[in-house]
Amino acid sequence: MRKERLFGKTLNELIAVTKNAGLPGYSAKQIADWLYKKEISSVNEMTNLSKKMREILSDNYDLGLSDPVNVAVSSDGTRKYLYNVLNDKYIETAYIPDHNRATICISSQAGCKMGCVFCMTGKQGFQGNLSSNEILNQFRSLPEFRKLTNMVYMGMGEPLDNITEVLKSLEIMTSTWGYGWSPTRITVSTVGLKNHIGDFLEKTRCHLAVSLHSPFDEERKKLMPVQNTSLIKEILDIIRKTDFNNQRRISFEYILFDGMNDTPAHIKELARILNGIKCRINIIRFHHIPGSEFRSPDNKVVIEFKEALNKKGILTTIRASRGEDIGAACGLLSTLEQNKGVQK
Ligand code: SF4
Repeated sequence: MRKERLFGKTLNELIAVTKNAGLPGYSAKQIADWLYKKEISSVNEMTNLSKKMREILSDNYDLGLSDPVNVAVSSDGTRKYLYNVLNDKYIETAYIPDHNRATICISSQAGCKMGCVFCMTGKQGFQGNLSSNEILNQFRSLPEFRKLTNMVYMGMGEPLDNITEVLKSLEIMTSTWGYGWSPTRITVSTVGLKNHIGDFLEKTRCHLAVSLHSPFDEERKKLMPVQNTSLIKEILDIIRKTDFNNQRRISFEYILFDGMNDTPAHIKELARILNGIKCRINIIRFHHIPGSEFRSPDNKVVIEFKEALNKKGILTTIRASRGEDIGAACGLLSTLEQNKGVQK
């Protein structure tokens, strides 16, 4: 029988573990220290717990850490790692070095239910939610773990569709008993789920990025089926009611598709719907995926779009494309790996 995993448990869950195992309450904090502040690889290394306590723990638990199974390395230094999760599924994790920053882009689900038409992960369909252990293992088992300065939940899956495990992982990342990161080093990206976004905004202080891609309802519906159940207007209303202090950032992601969402009418409507929200727009060049008719517009169009939004008073930046030579679009690598499995 597989043992339960200790890594990825919150302090409250570790207290329950110690209670069940008949260990003293204070040992939960000691275990958290070993898990999140020291780099141990087995329960046996928790040397301030008695031998007996370690034996009791090892009988039922292991750490639950696992190395990536594959890596693709880009000429720009970006690395895309493949992790095995949920027994036979694969997820992607990107390591993106950039001057004095080093960002990890992590996945929250295997596959995704949201079905955004421009996304390779969306085409995989949903294969399962990652546990907090599987979410944070991508961070802890990354070979560049010690270099990391920032974390973004922008990999495979919709984080708010796995809100319980994502909130647990954020608690571990930002608590003093956990990794103790400032929440301003972490950004969670979502298509905007009206039933969960309030929870995320209330329970964390992490940055929020909302995938917008079109300010027009009907057009957004065609790109992102979520617009059928969570209108962007409803999401913006929730954001307007939230007290964002100076530290916390809200941004909107906007993938530009040639001849579709890159017109003056889009600029005007974006300025209208975002009026009153202190935010920035991140323009993203579309990374082509197999079988897609979408194209990225010329560089000139991208720059003009950005400048027009800046003129409207919305701080707008163009996100640098990274890892294009290793299939920058999220979901490509894992799809290849999954297909290999099918052919075996
Ligand atoms: S873009 Fe994000 S939310 Fe949409 S299908 Fe892809 S992974 Fe899911």
